[in-house]
Amino acid sequence: MRPDAELLAELVDANRILASQGVVDAFGHVSVRHNESAEHFLLARNMAPGSVTADDILTFGLDGEPIDADGRAVYLERFIHSEIYRLRPDVVSVVHSHSMSVVPFSVSQSAKLRAVCHMGGFLGVEVPNYEIRDACGPATDLLIRDGRSGEALARTLGGGAVALMRGHGSTVVGPTLRLAVFRAVYTEVNARVQLQAMQLGTVNYLTAEECAAATAGVGSQVGRAWSYWKAQVSA
Ligand code: MN
Repeated sequence: MRPDAELLAELVDANRILASQGVVDAFGHVSVRHNESAEHFLLARNMAPGSVTADDILTFGLDGEPIDADGRAVYLERFIHSEIYRLRPDVVSVVHSHSMSVVPFSVSQSAKLRAVCHMGGFLGVEVPNYEIRDACGPATDLLIRDGRSGEALARTLGGGAVALMRGHGSTVVGPTLRLAVFRAVYTEVNARVQLQAMQLGTVNYLTAEECAAATAGVGSQVGRAWSYWKAQVSA
């Protein structure tokens, strides 16, 4: 069950684009469902995303365990991916990051991340926030270390595109690898803009109807963003 070479190359590009766009640093990861099996997904071995090559991509089952690691270390938080793929048949790609502007919204007791500009329309008017204390108690290290906490995160995500993770980061999903990357980039952009707008005073957010319209309009532009971002990491 060898993954398609083009899909592998696209996943390598996704890793490098997310690093180049400041969504991931030494930490964070992106996966894609296997082209031949809905019960498997592709994810790099334990390493910084910006350095990933095709040889670093491993195949995982929906139990979160690799089938071809050959002794190589894997990400602790791979259960984020496995549990979302298990519960969401529509999801083809998952991005997990600690992108810096998003984290404040995961810990604020009052401010909520929501769409503040058209490129962030997919965020809608409310983004769920995963509280790991509810599933795993008051003394975790906040990481998704097993299927149980991964499943609880997947349930918080529900049918949505983005879930915050309190004191940790966020997880973004999409029906394609490119759209998941696009959403991860613009989740960070929207958070940055929202933080700045909030400093100016009361914010005029997108309505639910504007979010729907903006999401439909922007969706067709993903290829343009991808080409631009890919050129930057290929240079
Ligand atoms: Mn993490």
